[in-house]
Amino acid sequence: VNDITFDWSLECPACGATASAEGLPTVCPSGHPWLVRYADRGLTLTDRADIRRGQGMWRFRRWLPLLAGEEPVTLGEGDTPLLPAARAGAELGLHDLWIKDESVNPTGSFKSRGLSAAITRARRGGARGFVLPTAGNAGVAASAYGARAGLPVRVYAPRSTPPRLLEQVRRFGGDLELVDGHIGDCGREARKFAAEHGWFDLSTLREPYRIEGKKTLGLELAMQSGWRLPDVIVYPTGGGTGLIGMWKAFAELRTAGWVTDPMPRLVSVQSTGCAPIVRAFNEGADQAEPWSNPETIASGLRVPAALGDRLILRALRESSGHAVAVDDAALASAAETVSRLEGLDISPEGGAALAAATELVRSGTVHREARIVVFNTGAGWLYQRG
Ligand SMILES: [Zn+2]
Repeated sequence: VNDITFDWSLECPACGATASAEGLPTVCPSGHPWLVRYADRGLTLTDRADIRRGQGMWRFRRWLPLLAGEEPVTLGEGDTPLLPAARAGAELGLHDLWIKDESVNPTGSFKSRGLSAAITRARRGGARGFVLPTAGNAGVAASAYGARAGLPVRVYAPRSTPPRLLEQVRRFGGDLELVDGHIGDCGREARKFAAEHGWFDLSTLREPYRIEGKKTLGLELAMQSGWRLPDVIVYPTGGGTGLIGMWKAFAELRTAGWVTDPMPRLVSVQSTGCAPIVRAFNEGADQAEPWSNPETIASGLRVPAALGDRLILRALRESSGHAVAVDDAALASAAETVSRLEGLDISPEGGAALAAATELVRSGTVHREARIVVFNTGAGWLYQRG
């Protein structure tokens, strides 16, 4: 293992700590999330054509933590459609609405991307098994990619998680443990299990590579738009890895000269029943206090405390963005409307983002002619009961 030469290292934006990528990195010595910093990979503008000829999210392998000649643990994730939604846009009052539909990923959600990257690196680093807490979709993805890697996965989920998500965890061989409580309670159980059994903890931002997988949301969006960026990106935020990942992607693309547009305004969307990031943003705080008694039907938004709170808030502010909370009735109505008018399988979290985009335009915060990309992070059918 010692003869591997990594052309990336780890850096903590909160305290400035640095580390090599050897072994199985977790968080910085002070407990903050690491960010990956790449050595110069010699990417030039002409490499954009090569990227176009690739497939899936690993077409971006030169932007990702992959060693020369290494094969990733993949199920064909990425390459999700970026679809204009004129009929739904007209109904909602949004004149240039686009939907990035992550429901068509192999495990039915955007979680495929992060878990493909994290499990690729952790397997190489010597992990014997994986454990994580989940609101649903991450548990499905971890189980599937663990199976693909030939390694066992233990999943802790709230008992209230929609049953079909739990069925998918079991279907992909995940060892599922139900917890009376929310994802924070599940996280405590997962860390205990990891400490006792020596399995690797894949919790959001407790390892550096899920962000890198999620970064492909932003890389792909830019590529699909002809290396242009939209005016506004509206993103449902639980742990916030996708938001942080896209913010990192756009910064790296701009540094490389592949994109020259200004950073899009990033909008973080949460539920009125669990809105720690929205509250912190509105108070001007640089970190978020945990939310008491989190409740929402959008289980992916039932995250009372995010380890990446500082990074999320920094991304929102650096992009002149916003943070919006919507209630369950509004997110369910928006999901229903857009599914009916566009034939897309909108999840509750995607519905929340659509409701928030509608509200931002209605209130005049965002111009109705702005190009708005809304993320549908997962498949609606996984949340249906009965
Ligand atoms: Zn640190």
